[in-house]
Amino acid sequence: MIYYLWLYHTNQIIDKIMHYKKYFKGLTLFFLLTGVVACTTALKDETITSSGHGQISENWTLKNTSESDDLVILERSDAEVISKFTARNFDLKMRLKTTPRAEGSLAFHTASATGSSPEGYSVFINNSDYRSGSTEKTGSLSLIRNFHIRMAEDDEWFELGLSVRGNHITVTVDGKIVSEYYEPENPVRLEGFEGMVLSEGRIALGKSDDNGSILVSDISIEAMPEDIPRVAVDFETTGEVAEQLTLLNQEGFPVIDYHGHLKDVLTVDEITKYGRDHGFNYGISENCGLNFPVTDDAALVAYYEKIKDEPVFKAMQCEGREWVTLFSPEYIALYDYIFTDALTFTDHRGRRMRLWVQDEVVVEDEEQFMDMLVERTLAILSQEPVDIFVNPTFLPEEINHNYDNLWTDQRMDTVIEALIKNDVALEINARYRIPSIEFIKRAREAGVKFALGTNNAGEHDLGRLEYCIEAIREAGITPEDMFIPRPDGEKKVSFMGLPEEVTG
Ligand SMILES: [Zn+2]
Repeated sequence: MIYYLWLYHTNQIIDKIMHYKKYFKGLTLFFLLTGVVACTTALKDETITSSGHGQISENWTLKNTSESDDLVILERSDAEVISKFTARNFDLKMRLKTTPRAEGSLAFHTASATGSSPEGYSVFINNSDYRSGSTEKTGSLSLIRNFHIRMAEDDEWFELGLSVRGNHITVTVDGKIVSEYYEPENPVRLEGFEGMVLSEGRIALGKSDDNGSILVSDISIEAMPEDIPRVAVDFETTGEVAEQLTLLNQEGFPVIDYHGHLKDVLTVDEITKYGRDHGFNYGISENCGLNFPVTDDAALVAYYEKIKDEPVFKAMQCEGREWVTLFSPEYIALYDYIFTDALTFTDHRGRRMRLWVQDEVVVEDEEQFMDMLVERTLAILSQEPVDIFVNPTFLPEEINHNYDNLWTDQRMDTVIEALIKNDVALEINARYRIPSIEFIKRAREAGVKFALGTNNAGEHDLGRLEYCIEAIREAGITPEDMFIPRPDGEKKVSFMGLPEEVTG
């Protein structure tokens, strides 16, 4: 497989670099004007706790900020709170609050910036609802381990934690680890991003535009020993898939496995750790439908409660066609998104079949079967209020060898048209390697949104989105082509409701 970067991304990457350049140039000018560079001290064997505007200004330089009720407020796009010291290894905690649309970042190891390219790393701050502003949310280790799940709300105080120990970076929001990264000996970096490496430097909280405000009430930083050894863990340069995941993050791609399952003994802590290590986020769902673990509103709410504070998207997998009769719209709408497939339906003779269970599948005539499958799919896409169509174009084993012939141009285009018309995203499924690259190319040209999914069966088949990465590169999928969950109050089920009866 030959992977390559699409020229298309170049503009976006240049945008990101320009953003950094603007930010770091500002820092350089500031240091020159104030002479801060000349009298820098390094943080050693100490903890500096600053509470309120007065104490913060003793240890941190405030630039273009304002104050109120003992808080430091960042409003302007050039507002910054910069450490008067440099630090290498440290544990930092900040108590922050954002107002709607505010975006900013917490840069570290920025050193004496040259202004030519980004230096050090930055943690993104943005608590806007999905589809507003950046797809990166608070705690995202920008362009390295992008994080897209909202863990804090606007207008509510939260604690942002950042720990740097040796080559290990950890970011927490209210104590939950959301991003984590082990910098390898030879990090993979796109051109222009070579400076995104660990060193020693300042810490700077900055605003990225003029929208909203970021409020700071407390900052505490504890120096850690300088000689913490590197951890010989390398998730970045060990093979093509690892490298591609790293590059996708740097291209600003929302690398999200929207189709993860806990199942058996796999815990949410284990699956999120796995995702952080390899460089993608998870959406977690339980199977909801007849003969599945969740069959009523009480169980649906209970599952939501179980995962609601976790750093994962909360999803509902709608099973069979009966699901529309089992749950109420208000509880379905709790979830970030819902998805279903066309693997279970009743055929024209009234036989309920699950396409992955060989004993249940009856194919008398391949063409007739395909026409029925497309017809059932259209009914699902047009009547069930789902966000993502998963396991798409799956065929029963007995006819799967003929996949390319059976999925004719016309059948592909019929399904693609229905996806567009009903605003349903298409899953690129890594488990079954479906739909075909040809299908994905046609869908991209038509403007379909994509969601990546592994659909793991348990703890032993956690993949790394291998087929999804191939498809992204071969079909030229860009970050803008990716599905992002609907904001609260705009869920499909809230305005479509549920069909009166099963769709097929
Ligand atoms: Zn599934």
